[in-house]
Amino acid sequence: MKEAMHYSALEGGKVRCGLCPHGCTIADGKRGICGVRENRAGRLFSLVYGRYSSAHPDPIEKKPLYHFHPGSTALSFGTLGCNLRCLHCQNWEISQSRDADFGELGELRAADIGEWAGRTGSEGVAWTYNEPTIWHEFALEGSIEARKRGLYTVYVTNGYISEAPLREIGARLDAANVDVKAFTEKFYKEVSGARLQPVLDACKLYRELRVHLELTYLIIPTKNDSAGEMERFCRWVVKELGPDVPVHFSRFHPDYRLGDVGPTPVKKVVEAWEIGRRAGLEYVYGGNVPRGDYDNTLCPGCGSLLIERSGFHAEVTGLRDGRCQNCGTAVPVIGARPGRL
Ligand code: SF4
Repeated sequence: MKEAMHYSALEGGKVRCGLCPHGCTIADGKRGICGVRENRAGRLFSLVYGRYSSAHPDPIEKKPLYHFHPGSTALSFGTLGCNLRCLHCQNWEISQSRDADFGELGELRAADIGEWAGRTGSEGVAWTYNEPTIWHEFALEGSIEARKRGLYTVYVTNGYISEAPLREIGARLDAANVDVKAFTEKFYKEVSGARLQPVLDACKLYRELRVHLELTYLIIPTKNDSAGEMERFCRWVVKELGPDVPVHFSRFHPDYRLGDVGPTPVKKVVEAWEIGRRAGLEYVYGGNVPRGDYDNTLCPGCGSLLIERSGFHAEVTGLRDGRCQNCGTAVPVIGARPGRL
């Protein structure tokens, strides 16, 4: 157990956590909404500091990050809990468990991450699988240690984090994929138990902090898949974040408490891809579309194929020194090396 950061003491032994926009007021002996921060006698503690539920060397494409060290491996860690309550959560066993035995989790020291990464051939570390925000104390320390060893650091996040902790971790992050779950407050309230606006604010702050940013939008039939909503989202990205921010549209599969909603039709992903391109996004990706260029990186200037992907493999074909080989358009892909990766 480690005393939490970003909280203040209140009267009557209560505390207020300031890590995420929920701002939970927590009575003695109770936990916040995320289930992993507990008030013990007027002090807030992290129950997951140095405790992991999952650890794997993953392709960076799996996060997904397509414009960041293509073909590299990121040693990926997750713990328990989440500050959102998404009815469709695909990792609900670890994110929504509220009666877990934290003592059964693996133990990890931040100082050991570099050696572990070296053993697995990893070039970086990713905080993922569950929401890294609620693991702040350890993810921060682990990111500092990882950077000391020359590793890159990545967040795969729902973006539900307050400004001060985001500035703190953002200074230690190289890249983030923010999962924007929909573009209405109604969806966030009814499906995720949260609010949209703080997520949008976090996306803007990631850009301000110069953390490489990509976005994911999981298309859920009847919930967030109207052409109008997806178009408003894409236009917002172009205007507020920039047309060069990659956007990944992905397909929903029935899970957890949304088992009665069918999977996303392939044609819906294609529609979203077209909406994104029409809205002015330069890099739009569509996951699990069997044919076409929906997973490849194309030059926004001339349409040439720059990075070809198959599964989680990438081949950098038409990109040299950050420019399209055919027309010279600058294409921001950090750490791209020519060849099959
Ligand atoms: S991090 Fe957890 S305890 Fe803190 S405000 Fe968010 S949900 Fe509440």
